[in-house]
Amino acid sequence: MLQSSATNMNDLTSKLESSQNKIAELETFRQSLVSEVAVKESENKDILQKMRHVEQDLQMTARQCEDEIRLLKTQHSMEMEQLRMTQARLKQETEMLETKLRATNTQLELQMQENTSLRSTISTQSSNCLALESDNRALKMKIERTENTVTQCESSIQSLKQQLSESQLACQDLEQRIRNEETIRRRLHNTIQELKGNIRVFCRVRPATTAENASRAETMTALIKYPDQEGRDIEFAHAKESATGIQIEKSYPFTFDKVFQTTSTQDDVFEEISQLVQSALDGYNVCIFAYGQTGSGKTYTMEGPLSATPETTGMIPRSVLQIYENAKALESKGWVYTMEGQYVEIYNETINDLLGNDGLDTNKKHEIRHGPNGKTTITDITTAVLTSPEKVAAILKKAAHNRSVGSTQMNERSSRSHCVFTLRLSGKNSITEEASEGVLNLIDLAGSERLSQSGATGDRLKETQAINKSLSCLGDVIYAISNKDPHIPYRNSKNSLGGNSKTLMFVNISPLMSNFNETLCSLRFATKVNSCTIGTATKRAVKS
Ligand code: ADP
Ligand code: MG
Repeated sequence: MLQSSATNMNDLTSKLESSQNKIAELETFRQSLVSEVAVKESENKDILQKMRHVEQDLQMTARQCEDEIRLLKTQHSMEMEQLRMTQARLKQETEMLETKLRATNTQLELQMQENTSLRSTISTQSSNCLALESDNRALKMKIERTENTVTQCESSIQSLKQQLSESQLACQDLEQRIRNEETIRRRLHNTIQELKGNIRVFCRVRPATTAENASRAETMTALIKYPDQEGRDIEFAHAKESATGIQIEKSYPFTFDKVFQTTSTQDDVFEEISQLVQSALDGYNVCIFAYGQTGSGKTYTMEGPLSATPETTGMIPRSVLQIYENAKALESKGWVYTMEGQYVEIYNETINDLLGNDGLDTNKKHEIRHGPNGKTTITDITTAVLTSPEKVAAILKKAAHNRSVGSTQMNERSSRSHCVFTLRLSGKNSITEEASEGVLNLIDLAGSERLSQSGATGDRLKETQAINKSLSCLGDVIYAISNKDPHIPYRNSKNSLGGNSKTLMFVNISPLMSNFNETLCSLRFATKVNSCTIGTATKRAVKS
């Protein structure tokens, strides 16, 4: 054990020695550190000095910087202000631009719509265009064809013109021939009329009126037969109705130039007389009168019923119109006519002017004058110059009006008066130098029963005498001639009935049994007239 402690003691002594060494080492290190610290402290002082300088510099710099910052701040705020203004302006501008934009947008939309419609139009137009182009081609072809035709036509026109001028020459030649033929026709026409006899008699049987048909007593009509084909014969029979049927007592046959049955129309009648009417234009005195008892259809035949239709118009209006039309047609053959119409009523020895302006002015006295040239005139009478069909219609209307104004008992009075329509026709042909003067007289006589009525007294007698006297201008003269009675004076009537006259008498008869006797009288008288001749008509034409 003491050995171990001795070793420990050795160890500790070595350890102490090394520590002491170390302490000595540390001491030297400490002294070097102290000197080092002194150096460091002086260095610190320098650094502090330097730091102070730096601090001063920094402060200066900071102040400068603050100044700069203030300056910059004011600049900044000014700029900010400007910026704000700019911003506001820009905002306004933006708003404006936006509204503009919106408007532009809507416009754009519209434009787009328009665009689409235009596009569709363009497509239809282009298809149209195609169609038109094909049309165009077709038209061009047509035009070419037409041009060809035109050239052909022009050449044919040329040849036609040639033909036309040749035809015109031929035409002039033909016209000359027509004029010659017209002169020949007039001569031949007259010869035919002469051969037919200068006084011709037509018989017309009127139908029973609706009123007569309605009353049983009046319906009894005489038995009338028309035996021949040509329509010239009439057989009147007295018939009695008994239990065994209708019995014929006695039959009376008559023959005339023409017999018109109850069914004959105004057209049928006019067809037969139109040739005669034409003679007036050729320069003859034509006289057509209606004879018969009151109610036998004289006025219906000559003038037509009161409200006439084109079918029922009477012979007077038809004749005047035909003459007017024929005269117009003859103008192409060189004839120029003047036509003057007069219309009078002869009642109780007085002449009333039916074309006068103041109705029937009975105070005005008219007289018949016979000139040395055979012309018969009435004084102070209205003469209407017929220049147009309207004028013709107007004078006929006026006459009808004047007659209805003239009397309140028109029918009663018209049965006792004669109505005379006179148309004077003077024609001149400037080419052939011919001239002609013709007269057409159309007369609706007073009722024939007045002539035979005997035993009349007072006013009636006077009236009957007057009718008799005025009828002597016509009926009596014919009667006298037919009787070859030398004592009946022709007086001044010869000019209108003999010589250059062509006369036609209508004997109008009633179909009624109640009129049987009067009808027989009329038919007998008419037969006498029919068998008489009054010389040969000579044309009153003068070569001027
Ligand atoms: P008048 O003049 O002879 O006295 P009207 O001409 O006045 O006779 O005729 C008597 C009547 O008989 C009238 O009512 C008339 O309209 C008519 N009349 C006459 N003839 C015809 C005819 N052919 N057709 C139809 N009616 C007729
Ligand atoms: Mg009459």
